[in-house]
Parts: sequence; C-alpha cells; structure tokens
Amino acid sequence: MILDVGRLKPGTQLVEGDEEEVIADLRDGAVKVETPIHYRLSVDLLPGEVLVRGVLSCRVSFVCVRCTRSFVREILVGDFVRSYACPDPLTLKLDLTDDFREDTILTFPSHPVCRETCRGLCPRCGQDLNEKECHCPRGFSVPGWEKLDALNLTE
Ligand SMILES: [Zn+2]
Ligand SMILES: [Zn+2]
Repeated sequence: MILDVGRLKPGTQLVEGDEEEVIADLRDGAVKVETPIHYRLSVDLLPGEVLVRGVLSCRVSFVCVRCTRSFVREILVGDFVRSYACPDPLTLKLDLTDDFREDTILTFPSHPVCRETCRGLCPRCGQDLNEKECHCPRGFSVPGWEKLDALNLTE
C-alpha cells in the first residue's frame, strides 16, 4: 500500500481501504490469506514525521495441528503503529506493504487449533476422533506421535 503523503492535509486523516499486494505470495501452503488486508488508519502529518496508527484485518486459513483440517480465522492487528521520517511531505510516498505484512504475520498462531475442544487424530490409526471413535487401545501413546501421524497424512 502506497501512502502518498503529498496528498495529505496537515493534521489527522483517516485512510481506509483494502490491500491485495501484502498477501499475494501467501496464498499457498498451510497458511493461506483468504481476503485482502483491510486497513483503517489514522495518519498524522507532523513536522518532519508521519505517524500512522490503526487496525488491520483479514481472514486467514490455517491447518489444525491436531486434526490437520483447514479452518478460517479472522486475524486482527489492533495496534498497527509506525513512525516514518518525512523530510519533504510534498514528494514523500510511503510504502506500507512490508509493515502490514510483518504485523499481520506476527499475529498468526504458532500452533493453530481449529477449536480448543478438537480431539485430533488417533495416534495409531489416524482416525479423526472428532468424527468418530476408533477401537485402538488408549493410554500409552508416545508424546509427539500425534503430530508425526498428522504430517504423514498430508503428504
Ligand atoms: Zn482440529
Ligand atoms: Zn485409532
């Protein structure tokens, strides 16, 4: 997203829109950004400085680490804040794309779970235990197997 500072008036202004560019290369793999990133920013043109604050949001699909199913979650960056040096406000064009990306990715869960009550896959037979029980004996699974089995299923 390019912010054309030369077109801003002094004082605080609201800038709002959708940015596709941020997520163009985040459309494959386990994490997929499903919508453009919506930004709602207040921009302060100060002497020698541009202060940008606001909120970013988008919908992202993740793969559950327990059951390996995809699920979509609303991602919200509630406190996007950046200050940019502004030697000449008339000609300055700020590219906020990388900063949008950085803050958005930082809010992704490191262990995405489709829901807290997700029971995951049986570590022995791979049955999705959210759907039905299997007949494998319980109680002596080795920690870590669940994740390994989940990996094999998706390959
Ligand atoms: Zn799950
Ligand atoms: Zn089983």
